[in-house]
Amino acid sequence: MDRLARLRESLMSRADVDAILVTNPQNRRYLSGFTGSAGVLLISRELALIITDFRYWEQVAAEVTDFTLVKQSADIWESIAGVVREHGWQSLAFEAFDLTVYHYHQLESLLQGIRMVPLNDELNRLRWSKEPEEVELLRIAADITDRAWEQTLKAIKPGVRERDVALEFDYQLRLNGADGSSFTTIVISGVRSSLPHGAASEKAIQPGELVLIDGGALYKGYHADMTRTVVLGRADAEQKRIYHLVLRAQQLALEGLHAGMTGREADAIARNFLAGEGYGGDFFGHGLGHSVGLEIHESPRLSKSEPEVIPVGAAVTVEPGVYIPGWGGVRIEDLVIVQSDGLLNLTHSPKMELLEI
Ligand code: ZN
Ligand code: ZN
Repeated sequence: MDRLARLRESLMSRADVDAILVTNPQNRRYLSGFTGSAGVLLISRELALIITDFRYWEQVAAEVTDFTLVKQSADIWESIAGVVREHGWQSLAFEAFDLTVYHYHQLESLLQGIRMVPLNDELNRLRWSKEPEEVELLRIAADITDRAWEQTLKAIKPGVRERDVALEFDYQLRLNGADGSSFTTIVISGVRSSLPHGAASEKAIQPGELVLIDGGALYKGYHADMTRTVVLGRADAEQKRIYHLVLRAQQLALEGLHAGMTGREADAIARNFLAGEGYGGDFFGHGLGHSVGLEIHESPRLSKSEPEVIPVGAAVTVEPGVYIPGWGGVRIEDLVIVQSDGLLNLTHSPKMELLEI
């Protein structure tokens, strides 16, 4: 069933609305194929319309097949209201997590007498289970990330700044076919590696330091995400010990993760192991992972606060870490597809030993 049909079946009957307004850029792209950065979708039982301005009319013609273009004349909110009135729709669902309060009020005043129905994450849920075409794009994004990582290793040398390594990784991603970086590449070294999402800084990397790099390729809208932790020069015994604890936590999580379990249950596999080794609580202060796709962080999450069930086809990261203030941190992150018969791991960069470079 195509995406539009799935939306109509899962939502239009249940929400009891005449039409759905899609403002969220990723949902707009997912449903229509339109990759432009402005415009909305209006979907009723019979009609599928895309409203956008002059800059994108030619692009819509090239990218969009299932939606009819409505040429936006002046203000987009007035265009939306015009279409709603033209078709006599009495109720309109909207994405409450996306539409700003400001625009909601604007629309409400233009649509007096029409019932506005807030949707939560119903549209996002259509994207939870990836289709084969999406898995293929994620696979390519992960492959580009692996190749960029291999090249970036050569740039990690004594005295090189974290930000230079980040720049090299970003460059290698682009050189290997990425449209960009999934997010701002994280490179943190030495004691700074205990900042799980620290930004790459001016700090020069010194021999004996842990270097944690987290990044990924953006490819045709899809986000790869990978973390590797290495040591510049020789690793000491404690660095190796913590590394292998994190690796074990990840392996246990990869062995235990399956469709049908909740995000909370998946998270607990790694968390319980690390806690048993003395690294619970704030030593592993973030979730085990998150879904990825058209956004870098999607639901369901693998976290202790996620009650949702992981579906077949979910694309999730598995990224346990241990962070010790004043010492440093280790994280290992792979991107996997949850299939009915097991996991498909898209990340192939070596990890079985703490790499000394
Ligand atoms: Zn990451
Ligand atoms: Zn991640």
